Parts: sequence; structure tokens; C-alpha cells
Amino acid sequence: MRHPAPTLVKRVSPTQTDVTWNDGHFSSYPSWYLRENCMCASCVEEFSGRRRIRHGDIPSTIERLSVAPVGNYALQFGWSDGHDTGIYTFEYLRKLCPCPECLPGGLKEPPEKVAGPGTFEA
Ligand SMILES: [Zn+2]
Ligand SMILES: [Zn+2]
Repeated sequence: MRHPAPTLVKRVSPTQTDVTWNDGHFSSYPSWYLRENCMCASCVEEFSGRRRIRHGDIPSTIERLSVAPVGNYALQFGWSDGHDTGIYTFEYLRKLCPCPECLPGGLKEPPEKVAGPGTFEA
């Protein structure tokens, strides 16, 4: 759709945010998934567009502390890892929708705990 916009943003739990869209579509986002897909300058390299965060870097237990509208085009989330610079435009948020219709393969949940920096795997 051309101008997706949420009609309802529901804080179901610290680890789940549900969005109902103006075309009736329904999306349910796990917190780790939104955090993993943050598009801010510290999560994505400016020139290459390469993500600094890989799947598994964000634990499944990460919590949403806040969600606030930005103008009339985006939402900004604050996460329990202290990160809060990510702005998710409605269009981007809608593209991320993990429902079976939008993402037939479904989501693969990351581990509850992830190795911190300085921990190396053989
Ligand atoms: Zn970010
Ligand atoms: Zn969907």
C-alpha cells in the first residue's frame, strides 16, 4: 500500500508490540526483531549500508522500554540495551511485518543470551 500508517500501536508486553494498520493489516513484532533491524547510523554503516548487527547479536529477551511517534511518519523505540536512536518509518515497519502472509518463512528466534564483545568462539 502507498501510505501505510498505524491506527493502533499496542504494547502487548515488553517483548511484543502489535500494530494495526490503516488498511486493516495486523502485525505483531517481537522486540528483538525490531531491535535487530534498527536502521540508525550506529547500526548501519552510512556508505555501504552494511548492517553492524547480525542475527543472534540481539538476545530474544531484549525489552521495549518506550515507543513514541515521530511526526506523522515514524515510531521511535527505546530498548533495554540502552539503544534508542532508531527511527522506524511506517513504510519500513510495514515492510518488516513478520506475519505469515508478509514473511512466509517466519522468524527464527535468537538465543536468550548472546556472547558479549570479547568472547570468541573457536
Ligand atoms: Zn540503531
Ligand atoms: Zn503482514
